[in-house]
Amino acid sequence: MASLFLLILALFTFQFQIGVLISSQTIPNQDDSYIKFIQNANTLPTTEKYDYIIIGGGTAGCPLAATLSSNFSVLVLERGSDPNAFPMVLSQEGMANTLTDDDNGHNPFQRFISEDGVENIRGRVLGGGSMINVGFYSRAQPEFFKNSSVQWDMAMVEEAYRWIEETVVSRPELGPWQLAFKEALVEAGVGPDNGYDLNHVVGTRIGGSIFDSRGKRHGAVELLNKANPINLKVATQATVKRIIFSQSNGLSATGVLYSDSNGKLHKATISKNGEIILSAGAIGSPQLLLSSGVGPKSHLSSLKLPLVLHNRHVGQSMADNPRFGATVVLPFLTRPTSVQVVGTLKPNIHIESLSTILPFSISPPFALLPPRSSGVNLSLAIFAGKFSTVSSTGSLRLDRRKNPIVRFNYLSHPDDLERCVEGVRKVGELVNTKVMERIKTRDLEGKMGFEFLGRSLPENMSDYGLVGEFCRKTVTTFWHYHGGCLVGKVVDGNYKVIGINNLRVVDGSTFSLSPGTNPMAAVMMLGRYVGLKMLHQRLGQRSKPFGN
Ligand SMILES: Cc1cc2nc3c(=O)[nH]c(=O)nc-3n(C[C@H](O)[C@H](O)[C@H](O)COP(=O)(O)OP(=O)(O)OC[C@H]3O[C@@H](n4cnc5c(N)ncnc54)[C@H](O)[C@@H]3O)c2cc1C
Repeated sequence: MASLFLLILALFTFQFQIGVLISSQTIPNQDDSYIKFIQNANTLPTTEKYDYIIIGGGTAGCPLAATLSSNFSVLVLERGSDPNAFPMVLSQEGMANTLTDDDNGHNPFQRFISEDGVENIRGRVLGGGSMINVGFYSRAQPEFFKNSSVQWDMAMVEEAYRWIEETVVSRPELGPWQLAFKEALVEAGVGPDNGYDLNHVVGTRIGGSIFDSRGKRHGAVELLNKANPINLKVATQATVKRIIFSQSNGLSATGVLYSDSNGKLHKATISKNGEIILSAGAIGSPQLLLSSGVGPKSHLSSLKLPLVLHNRHVGQSMADNPRFGATVVLPFLTRPTSVQVVGTLKPNIHIESLSTILPFSISPPFALLPPRSSGVNLSLAIFAGKFSTVSSTGSLRLDRRKNPIVRFNYLSHPDDLERCVEGVRKVGELVNTKVMERIKTRDLEGKMGFEFLGRSLPENMSDYGLVGEFCRKTVTTFWHYHGGCLVGKVVDGNYKVIGINNLRVVDGSTFSLSPGTNPMAAVMMLGRYVGLKMLHQRLGQRSKPFGN
């Protein structure tokens, strides 16, 4: 599994090198003026008071902080560092190199392996997952809004998306591989061809990217540039240990305890009518609720953690979207391309692809090869599938280590296996289109076929058992894990923690299904949306977000 993960990262490295040349810039240059808000937690007082404290300066936390700062004082507590400390994460070329580093406790990412044995990563840097991800941007599907137990104001959703897109999203221009892939999708019946569309639609389309034409990343951190400068403070290397509660006026969150990089504890509290918002991600938010005493009574007592509120749903319904597909060695060298095109089938099964070059170096004394042969380049085409609704769920629990224990139970539900089988069959149809004839190779007997890297696609796609077996044997992560603090179970329709005053959760942990082909757009939108709602609820008509 480790080598497969490294291979995928290597593939992304090469994809990014050329991606720079092929996307058109539609947004201004990278803007790091957010630096003025950042202070290392070491330099902060040991006690402070704010209107709002946001735990986690990630994909949802940054837009939320910028929005609330328009009228109120906001403290963001982020355990990671300023992304400028890791220039590699700021560009397409460098990102994957950074990801292949060992986890030394200070990298912009943290590795974890689920109990399923699948390697995974989470963001540990200001900007969160949006600073280490692949950058594909696509809005959520209608079912996400319909099935989320939230009364969405769709005009405000649209406003929130636009606020994000004007700052961080570019339209890519397709390279030869993406053009061929798009043609193959349409030929395989994944129609209609919708052209460029950030919305989730059935058929084939080109999506957005947070990498601009020069390969510069525009992560959630740049949304902080929209904040009201007099109201925002962002503390980096500030790891929140637990939330502080009071029983004096009903159970209420009143502050947080966080440690700086020297291990010194700081206390931050909220003023009257203030709130604490957990935006620590699908692993971090349930983890922090549990370590603060909110969760299943039996689990907390087994760890001798004092119970604040019993809620059996905290840390439950954890899901990760399995990635399925195949990798084909191409019979010619082709320019690497990033993911720019998506094919969406009716039941929310999505197929993306990228082409890449995998170089192998040859050691000089290797006598079989001509003298001075230095290396061989392999061109690869990767077909990667995902389905948005995952029926197989697992859970998260604490064991006092840095990372909690997570199990996703990939493909354990028969519906998921069915979705995977359907997706793999579609990949089979795709590779058998006329367009893809070009990537077949002829063997010595003249037979045409594909040169698969790793496991071949099943020969007999009508054999459900065979295709299901392929799914189980090749399952890995699409990095879109979610759940742990679901709406209706842990938070209400306003993202307030059920049974506790002044505490919300706003991030991917509240999702019961993955938003569309890729979740980042919906996570950013959620941060802005909940921020706007909070301002409107608190200020009514007086609410005029700063800079808008
Ligand atoms: C490798 C990879 C590739 C991906 N590719 C794509 C893609 O191309 N397109 C797409 O749409 N999505 C992609 N995703 C998914 C997407 O990036 C995530 O779903 C999204 O970023 C999650 O946002 P979040 O706000 O829920 O959490 P995060 O962005 O992870 O934010 C949580 C923040 O909280 C901080 N934190 C956690 N605990 C604490 C604590 N105790 N104290 C202080 N701070 C804390 C973390 O350091 C982090 O910065 C990818 C993800 C990965 C990992």
